[in-house]
Amino acid sequence: MTKRTVNEMDLSGKRVFMRVDYNVPMAEQDGSMVINDSTRIEATLPTLEFLMEKGAKIILAAHLGRPKGKNEPSMSLRPVASKLADMVGRPVAFIDDCLGEKVEKTIEILQPGDILLLENVRFYAEEEANDDEFSRKLANLADCYINDAFGAAHRAHASTAGIAKYIAEKGGQCGAGLLMQKELQFLGTELAEPESPFVVILGGAKVSDKIKVIDQLLEKADTILIGGAMAYTFKLSQGLKVGKSLVEPDKTDLATKALKKAEEKGVQFLIPTDNIIAIPVITEKLNKKGKPIMEFQSPRTNSEENIPDDAEGVDIGPDTVARYKKIISEAKTILCNGPMGIFEDPRFSNGTFEVAKAVVEATQKHGAKSIIGGGDSVKALNQSGLGDQVTFMSTGGGASLEFLEGKDLPGIMALDEI
Ligand code: AMP
Repeated sequence: MTKRTVNEMDLSGKRVFMRVDYNVPMAEQDGSMVINDSTRIEATLPTLEFLMEKGAKIILAAHLGRPKGKNEPSMSLRPVASKLADMVGRPVAFIDDCLGEKVEKTIEILQPGDILLLENVRFYAEEEANDDEFSRKLANLADCYINDAFGAAHRAHASTAGIAKYIAEKGGQCGAGLLMQKELQFLGTELAEPESPFVVILGGAKVSDKIKVIDQLLEKADTILIGGAMAYTFKLSQGLKVGKSLVEPDKTDLATKALKKAEEKGVQFLIPTDNIIAIPVITEKLNKKGKPIMEFQSPRTNSEENIPDDAEGVDIGPDTVARYKKIISEAKTILCNGPMGIFEDPRFSNGTFEVAKAVVEATQKHGAKSIIGGGDSVKALNQSGLGDQVTFMSTGGGASLEFLEGKDLPGIMALDEI
């Protein structure tokens, strides 16, 4: 499957509709919305600079939050337009709609290299419904289509999938932006035939979220290292005690199957042998949703494989950290997805950060290729200032998981095959 990219597109003087992922975290400050983290905007700059250099007329479309088909002022993309203008060092036009006369008139006067950002596409319910007529109307705004929004590529929406059919119908080209191309290269090509030893590190909350990824990776990995809460479902499947740890008792059969497959395939499959545990206590404090806040008391290392009845496993223990670090240091290819513990609490972040450091060291000192599969792993690496020291960090959470599961993502399938 080779998809067209911007490198194989005729862009000069063309009206280019580019779908980007500008779903940035925002917060209200003195009555207006302020962007807290502009990483996603920054990630689109290489493609934008490429398009400006080619003299394309750039029409950007994105979603922000979940307005559910309604015009929700707090979810307007207007603040993104001014942030983007600062970043590219030139004006960025903004229209408070993504269809209609104002949009059409503005596009008519766009000059090569100009940028227009449309309003949140999800203000139209037709976007998420992948409505045909809406897709056709979006396609009418442009000559060609670029998808650079990997983070939204697992959704079959009008601006991520539907539009491509109508651009193609007019004889227009549909291709991947440079960010999307990189995602396809690292999550796809590089992992198709990984250099051995290929070590996969999986953590996070649930086995059920990642079981399909585990199943796929068991075909290629030499070693799989398990951490996070999902380790406890594996422990439970082996008849071990997990105390009050977060588990999915109805998923132990999936865990057993994965362990059996690992044995058949000769994949080393490791779960933690020691853990940091703490006593969960329900307090009288309430969270934003009005639910009681849980506090962890008396954290300590538990070197037993069984977890005491009153305790919860919250991180991997020091022996497990040491064992995982040694294996990571010998890897040539590393894929990492999900934290080793409740890393948001500094008392339980050691496992996640030590593993992250080991991944960085393997990359920097031993030339390993390290790919971070999005979501909380990226957050953890950035928090420790190590984000730029791995080979690649995916910008997609759900999208990268579905891609690694081997699913066809609608946003990628819609692009031209070359
Ligand atoms: P995921 O989105 O599946 O990668 O899960 C990330 C979340 O898993 C983070 O918010 C972590 O706090 C949480 N997590 C990791 N380890 C544990 C654990 N031992 N118990 C409860 N939650 C955990």
